[in-house]
Amino acid sequence: MALPRFNCDRCGICCRSIGGIPQLMQYDRGDGVCCHLTDANLCDMYESRPEVCNVEKMYSRFAAEMSMDEYLSMMEASCRCLKENFSRDLRNQPKSSALDAFLQKVPKASLEGLAAEVGVCQA
Ligand code: SF4
Ligand code: SF4
Repeated sequence: MALPRFNCDRCGICCRSIGGIPQLMQYDRGDGVCCHLTDANLCDMYESRPEVCNVEKMYSRFAAEMSMDEYLSMMEASCRCLKENFSRDLRNQPKSSALDAFLQKVPKASLEGLAAEVGVCQA
């Protein structure tokens, strides 16, 4: 039976938020953005990305505590939280062409309509 897959919309915000993640320190450009994130907003080492970037692989660490469905729900809540915090930070940033270029690549649904979900965030 095929395992359920994580519903990633490829917003790339997790790859722009790696500051403080020990397993990804070596990839931090210095601004929290991973050096493997391409201009097309994709990972240039996707097939060999670190385990911490692979949601399905990371399940083995949680398997004793929760089902795959529960784990994926938790991961999706975590993404919503990350997006909410990221969009909140964006609102406080001065406009710039680099920021505009990035926003063109992010699926609109990733940053819109999240205010109602703030309750899932612990920030
Ligand atoms: S933040 Fe979540 S939805 Fe966006 S790219 Fe990362 S894993 Fe996918
Ligand atoms: S290695 Fe790839 S998946 Fe992991 S943070 Fe960097 S760009 Fe994202």
